[in-house]
Amino acid sequence: MGKIKATAKKAAAKVVAAVKQFTSWSYSRYKDHRTCPRFAQWKHLLKKPEGPKSPAMERGGLIHKEGEFYLLGKTDKGRKVSPDAVPASYAGFRKELRELRKAGALAEAKWGMTRDWKVIDFFDWANCWVRLVLDAHHLAGKRARVVDFKTGKVYLEDNLEQMELYSIGALEYYPQAEEAQVELWYLDQPRGMDNPLVKVFTKKQVEALRKKWRSRAVPILMDKRFVPNPNFTCSRCPYSKRKASPDALKRGKAGVDYCQH
Ligand code: SF4
Repeated sequence: MGKIKATAKKAAAKVVAAVKQFTSWSYSRYKDHRTCPRFAQWKHLLKKPEGPKSPAMERGGLIHKEGEFYLLGKTDKGRKVSPDAVPASYAGFRKELRELRKAGALAEAKWGMTRDWKVIDFFDWANCWVRLVLDAHHLAGKRARVVDFKTGKVYLEDNLEQMELYSIGALEYYPQAEEAQVELWYLDQPRGMDNPLVKVFTKKQVEALRKKWRSRAVPILMDKRFVPNPNFTCSRCPYSKRKASPDALKRGKAGVDYCQH
């Protein structure tokens, strides 16, 4: 009996150990892990609460919802949204948003892919290897088009990386397409040469990007230690000891309940 109990304990420990590593990734996991492995672990793997969202994040979420309802032609409460009712936050993209709806773009997509970049259910927890969330997509002739709405500042380096991942997803979701066209609409920025930011990716380029991103996913998927990487984001990190209450600091343990940086 004792032996059975010990075996069961060992098996349970193995399960616990297994959930301590990432088995899938997304752009935000990748980016957070690159900035600070400990932050990525606590946020995405252990799901430690981050506290209330910032006003900018709340606003971004609302604006994305407005875009989604407009493209769907109805709100989540079932109220119809006319093609003329372009939300004020999309004023700089009024014409484009109307055209996007007219083209039958699908709103707020959740794309999942296996390790071999094959399309799979986003919610297939056992087999989904990478997840992408995007605002709108459709097939335009021989091009698979992806549109993502951006609020706030422009983070060009991150945005260009995101575009690469969207191009991979677009050609998997539309295998009949010969190219992927990815567009970022910076809703809070003036229109100009780089707004919207538009990039076209050929099949050959996407093939090279698949290799690049497969190797980029390795560090996050192999990591078991999640060593903290103190950096300029520590001052606003929700897990920093600077954010912990004096009471939590007294009761908690550095490295477990809050980060010592
Ligand atoms: S405080 Fe800094 S080092 Fe610690 S988890 Fe946050 S970002 Fe990482």
